[in-house]
Amino acid sequence: MILMNDFKSEPEQLKADMLAAVQRVISSGWYVLGDEGKAFEKRWARTCDTLHGVGVGNGLDAIEISLRALDIGKGDEVITTSMTAFATVLAIYRAGATPVLADIHPGTALMDLGSVKRCLSKKTKAIVLVHLYGQLDQMDEWLALCKQQSLHLIEDCAQAHLAKYRGKVAGSMGVAGAYSFYPTKNLGALGDAGMLVTNDNDLANRAARLRNYGQSERYLHPEVGMNSRLDEIQAAMLSVRLDWLEGFTEQRRKIAREYKEGLSNNQIKLLDFPEDEASHVYHLYVITSSRRKEMMNHLQEKGVQSLIHYPISIHHQKPCEQIQIDPQGLRNTERHSETCLSLPCHPAMTDAEVQQVISAVNSFK
Ligand SMILES: *Cc1c(COP(=O)(O)O)cnc(C)c1O
Repeated sequence: MILMNDFKSEPEQLKADMLAAVQRVISSGWYVLGDEGKAFEKRWARTCDTLHGVGVGNGLDAIEISLRALDIGKGDEVITTSMTAFATVLAIYRAGATPVLADIHPGTALMDLGSVKRCLSKKTKAIVLVHLYGQLDQMDEWLALCKQQSLHLIEDCAQAHLAKYRGKVAGSMGVAGAYSFYPTKNLGALGDAGMLVTNDNDLANRAARLRNYGQSERYLHPEVGMNSRLDEIQAAMLSVRLDWLEGFTEQRRKIAREYKEGLSNNQIKLLDFPEDEASHVYHLYVITSSRRKEMMNHLQEKGVQSLIHYPISIHHQKPCEQIQIDPQGLRNTERHSETCLSLPCHPAMTDAEVQQVISAVNSFK
Protein backbone atom coordinates (compact mmCIF):
# COMPACT_ATOMS: atom_id res chain seq x y z
CA MET A 1 0.00 0.00 0.00
CA ILE A 2 1.30 3.45 -0.90
CA LEU A 3 0.66 5.48 2.22
CA MET A 4 -0.02 9.19 2.70
CA ASN A 5 2.92 9.25 5.14
CA ASP A 6 5.53 6.55 5.55
CA PHE A 7 8.03 7.26 8.32
CA LYS A 8 9.26 3.67 8.43
CA SER A 9 10.79 4.02 4.98
CA GLU A 10 12.73 7.18 5.76
CA PRO A 11 16.51 7.09 5.16
CA GLU A 12 18.52 4.98 7.63
CA GLN A 13 21.00 7.84 8.01
CA LEU A 14 18.23 10.14 9.21
CA LYS A 15 17.12 7.58 11.79
CA ALA A 16 20.70 7.09 12.99
CA ASP A 17 21.20 10.85 13.33
CA MET A 18 17.99 11.15 15.36
CA LEU A 19 19.09 8.36 17.70
CA ALA A 20 22.45 10.10 18.21
CA ALA A 21 20.62 13.36 18.98
CA VAL A 22 18.43 11.65 21.58
CA GLN A 23 21.57 10.31 23.19
CA ARG A 24 23.06 13.81 23.21
CA VAL A 25 20.01 15.17 25.07
CA ILE A 26 20.03 12.33 27.61
CA SER A 27 23.72 12.93 28.27
CA SER A 28 23.03 16.63 28.80
CA GLY A 29 20.62 15.87 31.66
CA TRP A 30 18.43 18.87 30.68
CA TYR A 31 15.01 18.31 29.15
CA VAL A 32 12.89 21.47 28.98
CA LEU A 33 13.91 25.02 27.88
CA GLY A 34 17.61 24.48 27.36
CA ASP A 35 20.32 24.76 24.72
CA GLU A 36 18.73 22.41 22.17
CA GLY A 37 15.54 24.46 22.16
CA LYS A 38 17.43 27.74 21.92
CA ALA A 39 19.62 26.46 19.09
CA PHE A 40 16.63 25.25 17.11
CA GLU A 41 14.68 28.48 17.73
CA LYS A 42 17.62 30.41 16.32
CA ARG A 43 18.01 28.13 13.34
CA TRP A 44 14.33 28.10 12.45
CA ALA A 45 14.07 31.89 12.82
CA ARG A 46 17.06 32.27 10.51
CA THR A 47 15.48 29.85 8.03
CA CYS A 48 12.32 31.96 8.06
CA ASP A 49 14.27 35.22 7.80
CA THR A 50 12.83 36.49 11.07
CA LEU A 51 14.58 37.93 14.13
CA HIS A 52 12.88 35.66 16.66
CA GLY A 53 11.60 32.14 17.06
CA VAL A 54 9.67 31.13 20.17
CA GLY A 55 9.34 27.37 20.55
CA VAL A 56 5.94 26.22 21.79
CA GLY A 57 4.08 22.96 22.35
CA ASN A 58 2.24 22.74 19.01
CA GLY A 59 0.84 24.72 16.10
CA LEU A 60 -2.48 25.42 17.78
CA ASP A 61 -0.71 27.14 20.65
CA ALA A 62 1.52 29.09 18.26
CA ILE A 63 -1.62 30.73 16.83
CA GLU A 64 -3.29 31.25 20.22
CA ILE A 65 -0.14 32.76 21.70
CA SER A 66 0.30 35.06 18.66
CA LEU A 67 -3.23 36.38 19.19
CA ARG A 68 -2.88 36.75 22.95
CA ALA A 69 0.52 38.45 22.61
CA LEU A 70 -1.19 41.01 20.35
CA ASP A 71 -3.90 41.56 22.98
CA ILE A 72 -6.56 40.10 20.71
CA GLY A 73 -9.33 38.50 22.74
CA LYS A 74 -12.84 39.09 24.01
CA GLY A 75 -14.97 41.25 21.70
CA ASP A 76 -12.46 41.09 18.86
CA GLU A 77 -13.18 39.41 15.54
CA VAL A 78 -10.60 37.42 13.63
CA ILE A 79 -11.22 36.38 10.03
CA THR A 80 -9.97 33.08 8.71
CA THR A 81 -10.97 30.29 6.32
CA SER A 82 -13.48 27.50 6.85
CA MET A 83 -11.26 25.18 4.77
CA THR A 84 -8.53 24.48 7.31
CA ALA A 85 -7.52 22.23 10.18
CA PHE A 86 -9.86 22.73 13.14
CA ALA A 87 -6.88 23.97 15.18
CA THR A 88 -6.80 27.28 13.26
CA VAL A 89 -10.26 28.24 14.47
CA LEU A 90 -9.86 26.59 17.87
CA ALA A 91 -6.88 28.89 18.52
CA ILE A 92 -9.09 31.93 17.91
CA TYR A 93 -11.76 30.60 20.31
CA ARG A 94 -9.14 29.80 22.93
CA ALA A 95 -7.73 33.31 22.73
CA GLY A 96 -11.26 34.46 23.64
CA ALA A 97 -11.84 36.13 20.28
CA THR A 98 -14.65 35.58 17.76
CA PRO A 99 -13.81 33.75 14.53
CA VAL A 100 -15.45 34.85 11.28
CA LEU A 101 -15.15 32.48 8.34
CA ALA A 102 -14.54 33.54 4.75
CA ASP A 103 -14.93 31.53 1.55
CA ILE A 104 -12.13 30.15 -0.61
CA HIS A 105 -10.93 30.60 -4.18
CA PRO A 106 -12.04 27.49 -6.10
CA GLY A 107 -8.80 27.12 -8.07
CA THR A 108 -6.45 27.04 -5.08
CA ALA A 109 -8.75 26.44 -2.06
CA LEU A 110 -6.96 29.39 -0.42
CA MET A 111 -8.98 32.07 1.36
CA ASP A 112 -10.65 34.52 -1.01
CA LEU A 113 -9.87 38.24 -0.72
CA GLY A 114 -13.31 39.39 -1.84
CA SER A 115 -14.99 37.17 0.72
CA VAL A 116 -12.73 38.46 3.51
CA LYS A 117 -13.70 42.01 2.58
CA ARG A 118 -17.35 41.06 3.08
CA CYS A 119 -16.48 39.66 6.53
CA LEU A 120 -14.85 42.87 7.79
CA SER A 121 -16.53 44.77 10.62
CA LYS A 122 -15.61 47.44 13.16
CA LYS A 123 -14.57 44.63 15.48
CA THR A 124 -12.15 42.93 13.08
CA LYS A 125 -8.67 42.94 14.58
CA ALA A 126 -6.76 40.31 12.65
CA ILE A 127 -6.68 37.89 9.77
CA VAL A 128 -5.28 34.40 10.21
CA LEU A 129 -4.08 33.51 6.73
CA VAL A 130 -3.68 29.77 6.23
CA HIS A 131 -1.12 28.73 3.63
CA LEU A 132 -3.26 25.70 2.84
CA TYR A 133 -1.62 22.61 1.31
CA GLY A 134 1.72 24.47 1.46
CA GLN A 135 0.97 27.38 -0.86
CA LEU A 136 1.55 31.12 -0.56
CA ASP A 137 -0.50 33.32 -2.88
CA GLN A 138 -1.42 36.99 -3.31
CA MET A 139 0.71 38.06 -0.35
CA ASP A 140 1.01 41.64 -1.63
CA GLU A 141 -2.77 41.93 -1.71
CA TRP A 142 -3.17 40.46 1.79
CA LEU A 143 -0.53 42.79 3.22
CA ALA A 144 -2.11 45.79 1.49
CA LEU A 145 -5.58 44.92 2.81
CA CYS A 146 -4.28 44.51 6.37
CA LYS A 147 -2.39 47.77 6.17
CA GLN A 148 -5.38 49.65 4.79
CA GLN A 149 -7.73 48.23 7.45
CA SER A 150 -5.17 48.36 10.32
CA LEU A 151 -5.39 44.62 10.90
CA HIS A 152 -2.76 42.22 12.17
CA LEU A 153 -1.82 39.51 9.70
CA ILE A 154 -0.99 36.20 11.35
CA GLU A 155 0.27 33.51 9.01
CA ASP A 156 -0.75 29.93 9.74
CA CYS A 157 2.34 28.24 8.32
CA ALA A 158 1.59 24.74 9.65
CA GLN A 159 1.62 23.34 6.10
CA ALA A 160 4.08 25.73 4.45
CA HIS A 161 7.63 25.14 5.76
CA LEU A 162 10.14 26.76 3.34
CA ALA A 163 7.47 28.11 0.99
CA LYS A 164 8.55 31.45 -0.48
CA TYR A 165 6.63 34.31 -2.05
CA ARG A 166 8.87 36.53 -4.21
CA GLY A 167 11.84 35.54 -2.08
CA LYS A 168 10.06 36.04 1.27
CA VAL A 169 9.67 33.00 3.51
CA ALA A 170 6.32 31.95 4.97
CA GLY A 171 5.88 33.51 8.39
CA SER A 172 8.12 36.51 7.72
CA MET A 173 5.49 38.72 6.08
CA GLY A 174 2.78 38.96 8.72
CA VAL A 175 3.33 40.24 12.25
CA ALA A 176 3.74 36.60 13.29
CA GLY A 177 4.04 33.21 11.64
CA ALA A 178 2.73 30.13 13.44
CA TYR A 179 4.39 26.81 12.68
CA SER A 180 3.39 23.29 13.64
CA PHE A 181 5.96 20.51 13.72
CA TYR A 182 3.41 17.73 14.16
CA PRO A 183 4.97 14.52 12.75
CA THR A 184 3.10 14.60 9.41
CA LYS A 185 4.00 18.22 8.59
CA ASN A 186 6.77 18.93 6.08
CA LEU A 187 9.11 19.48 9.04
CA GLY A 188 7.88 17.20 11.78
CA ALA A 189 9.07 16.21 15.24
CA LEU A 190 8.54 12.79 16.83
CA GLY A 191 5.70 14.21 18.86
CA ASP A 192 4.00 17.58 19.23
CA ALA A 193 5.95 20.78 18.68
CA GLY A 194 5.46 24.26 17.27
CA MET A 195 7.00 27.69 16.90
CA LEU A 196 6.01 31.30 16.54
CA VAL A 197 8.32 33.40 14.38
CA THR A 198 8.30 37.20 14.30
CA ASN A 199 10.37 40.31 13.70
CA ASP A 200 8.64 42.13 16.56
CA ASN A 201 10.74 42.22 19.76
CA ASP A 202 7.82 42.91 22.10
CA LEU A 203 5.69 40.18 20.58
CA ALA A 204 8.54 37.67 20.91
CA ASN A 205 9.12 38.56 24.57
CA ARG A 206 5.44 38.39 25.39
CA ALA A 207 5.11 35.04 23.62
CA ALA A 208 8.08 33.60 25.49
CA ARG A 209 6.38 34.66 28.72
CA LEU A 210 2.94 33.33 27.77
CA ARG A 211 4.24 29.87 26.85
CA ASN A 212 5.80 29.53 30.31
CA TYR A 213 2.98 30.25 32.84
CA GLY A 214 3.11 33.98 32.09
CA GLN A 215 6.39 34.04 33.97
CA SER A 216 8.68 37.02 33.37
CA GLU A 217 11.43 35.85 35.69
CA ARG A 218 11.68 32.91 38.04
CA TYR A 219 8.55 32.70 40.23
CA LEU A 220 7.25 36.08 39.03
CA HIS A 221 3.95 35.93 37.09
CA PRO A 222 2.74 39.28 35.76
CA GLU A 223 -0.02 37.64 33.68
CA VAL A 224 -2.00 34.46 33.15
CA GLY A 225 -0.06 32.31 30.73
CA MET A 226 -0.08 28.67 29.75
CA ASN A 227 2.30 25.73 29.66
CA SER A 228 3.33 25.32 26.04
CA ARG A 229 7.04 24.67 25.79
CA LEU A 230 9.11 22.99 23.11
CA ASP A 231 11.08 20.24 24.86
CA GLU A 232 14.74 19.43 24.26
CA ILE A 233 14.22 16.01 22.68
CA GLN A 234 11.79 17.39 20.09
CA ALA A 235 14.04 20.38 19.41
CA ALA A 236 16.96 18.00 18.84
CA MET A 237 14.86 15.85 16.48
CA LEU A 238 13.83 18.96 14.57
CA SER A 239 17.44 20.13 14.25
CA VAL A 240 18.38 16.82 12.66
CA ARG A 241 15.36 16.75 10.39
CA LEU A 242 15.90 20.37 9.30
CA ASP A 243 19.13 19.25 7.59
CA TRP A 244 16.98 17.10 5.28
CA LEU A 245 14.15 19.54 4.71
CA GLU A 246 15.36 21.24 1.54
CA GLY A 247 15.95 17.92 -0.19
CA PHE A 248 12.61 16.58 1.01
CA THR A 249 10.85 19.71 -0.25
CA GLU A 250 12.45 19.33 -3.69
CA GLN A 251 11.24 15.73 -3.71
CA ARG A 252 7.66 16.86 -3.00
CA ARG A 253 7.88 19.39 -5.85
CA LYS A 254 9.18 16.71 -8.18
CA ILE A 255 6.24 14.44 -7.33
CA ALA A 256 3.85 17.35 -7.92
CA ARG A 257 5.41 18.00 -11.35
CA GLU A 258 5.01 14.34 -12.26
CA TYR A 259 1.40 14.34 -11.13
CA LYS A 260 0.74 17.47 -13.15
CA GLU A 261 2.20 15.90 -16.27
CA GLY A 262 0.92 12.38 -15.75
CA LEU A 263 -2.57 12.69 -14.29
CA SER A 264 -5.13 12.56 -17.05
CA ASN A 265 -8.70 11.55 -16.43
CA ASN A 266 -11.84 13.53 -17.17
CA GLN A 267 -13.26 12.39 -13.82
CA ILE A 268 -10.79 14.63 -11.96
CA LYS A 269 -9.63 18.22 -11.92
CA LEU A 270 -6.25 19.47 -10.76
CA LEU A 271 -5.95 22.62 -8.68
CA ASP A 272 -4.31 25.66 -10.32
CA PHE A 273 -0.58 25.20 -10.70
CA PRO A 274 1.38 28.07 -9.10
CA GLU A 275 3.28 30.42 -11.41
CA ASP A 276 6.30 30.34 -9.12
CA GLU A 277 7.35 26.88 -7.95
CA ALA A 278 8.96 28.32 -4.82
CA SER A 279 5.55 29.43 -3.54
CA HIS A 280 4.29 25.85 -3.03
CA VAL A 281 5.85 23.09 -0.89
CA TYR A 282 3.14 20.48 -1.49
CA HIS A 283 2.38 19.48 2.07
CA LEU A 284 -0.60 17.94 0.31
CA TYR A 285 -1.24 17.23 -3.36
CA VAL A 286 -4.96 17.77 -3.85
CA ILE A 287 -7.23 17.01 -6.80
CA THR A 288 -11.01 17.25 -7.04
CA SER A 289 -13.56 14.79 -8.32
CA SER A 290 -17.33 14.83 -8.24
CA ARG A 291 -17.16 11.02 -7.89
CA ARG A 292 -14.76 11.14 -4.96
CA LYS A 293 -15.99 8.19 -2.98
CA GLU A 294 -15.78 5.82 -5.96
CA MET A 295 -12.35 7.21 -6.82
CA MET A 296 -11.13 6.56 -3.26
CA ASN A 297 -12.39 2.97 -3.40
CA HIS A 298 -10.74 2.47 -6.78
CA LEU A 299 -7.42 3.83 -5.47
CA GLN A 300 -7.67 1.61 -2.42
CA GLU A 301 -8.10 -1.43 -4.70
CA LYS A 302 -5.01 -0.36 -6.64
CA GLY A 303 -2.98 -0.11 -3.43
CA VAL A 304 -3.06 3.66 -3.03
CA GLN A 305 -4.18 5.38 0.16
CA SER A 306 -5.93 8.73 -0.15
CA LEU A 307 -7.38 11.16 2.39
CA ILE A 308 -9.66 14.19 2.41
CA HIS A 309 -8.52 17.62 3.59
CA TYR A 310 -11.09 18.53 4.73
CA PRO A 311 -14.35 16.56 4.50
CA ILE A 312 -16.27 18.72 6.98
CA SER A 313 -15.52 22.41 6.83
CA ILE A 314 -15.30 24.33 10.09
CA HIS A 315 -18.73 25.97 9.93
CA HIS A 316 -20.34 22.51 9.89
CA GLN A 317 -18.59 21.38 13.08
CA LYS A 318 -20.69 21.08 16.22
CA PRO A 319 -19.00 23.81 18.32
CA CYS A 320 -19.35 26.21 15.35
CA GLU A 321 -23.11 26.07 14.80
CA GLN A 322 -23.44 29.79 15.56
CA ILE A 323 -20.25 30.88 13.83
CA GLN A 324 -20.29 34.02 11.67
CA ILE A 325 -19.56 33.51 7.99
CA ASP A 326 -19.39 35.55 4.79
CA PRO A 327 -22.94 37.00 4.37
CA GLN A 328 -22.97 35.59 0.83
CA GLY A 329 -22.27 32.09 2.13
CA LEU A 330 -19.37 29.71 1.62
CA ARG A 331 -20.26 28.14 -1.71
CA ASN A 332 -16.76 27.33 -2.90
CA THR A 333 -15.89 25.86 0.47
CA GLU A 334 -18.96 23.59 0.39
CA ARG A 335 -18.10 22.38 -3.11
CA HIS A 336 -14.43 21.81 -2.29
CA SER A 337 -15.15 19.83 0.86
CA GLU A 338 -17.40 17.55 -1.20
CA THR A 339 -14.92 16.96 -4.01
CA CYS A 340 -11.33 17.34 -2.75
CA LEU A 341 -9.01 14.37 -2.49
CA SER A 342 -5.37 14.24 -1.34
CA LEU A 343 -2.97 11.84 -3.08
CA PRO A 344 0.21 10.48 -1.49
CA CYS A 345 3.02 13.05 -1.86
CA HIS A 346 5.86 12.48 0.56
CA PRO A 347 9.65 12.39 0.19
CA ALA A 348 10.03 8.66 0.91
CA MET A 349 8.01 7.78 -2.22
CA THR A 350 9.92 6.02 -4.99
CA ASP A 351 9.56 6.93 -8.69
CA ALA A 352 7.76 3.64 -9.26
CA GLU A 353 5.26 4.49 -6.51
CA VAL A 354 4.59 7.89 -8.05
CA GLN A 355 3.90 6.17 -11.38
CA GLN A 356 1.67 3.64 -9.62
CA VAL A 357 -0.43 6.47 -8.18
CA ILE A 358 -0.70 8.09 -11.61
CA SER A 359 -1.78 4.81 -13.27
CA ALA A 360 -4.27 4.17 -10.50
CA VAL A 361 -5.91 7.58 -10.92
CA ASN A 362 -5.86 7.40 -14.72
CA SER A 363 -7.45 3.94 -14.81
CA PHE A 364 -10.54 5.12 -12.91
CA LYS A 365 -13.62 5.00 -15.14
C1 LIG B 1 -1.66 20.95 11.72
C2 LIG B 1 -2.26 22.27 11.59
C3 LIG B 1 -2.47 23.10 12.70
C4 LIG B 1 -2.30 22.65 14.11
O1 LIG B 1 -1.03 22.22 14.46
P1 LIG B 1 -0.86 21.25 15.73
O2 LIG B 1 0.61 21.20 15.91
O3 LIG B 1 -1.46 19.94 15.37
O4 LIG B 1 -1.55 21.91 16.87
C5 LIG B 1 -2.96 24.38 12.48
N1 LIG B 1 -3.24 24.82 11.25
C6 LIG B 1 -3.07 24.04 10.16
C7 LIG B 1 -3.40 24.60 8.81
C8 LIG B 1 -2.58 22.74 10.29
O5 LIG B 1 -2.42 21.99 9.20
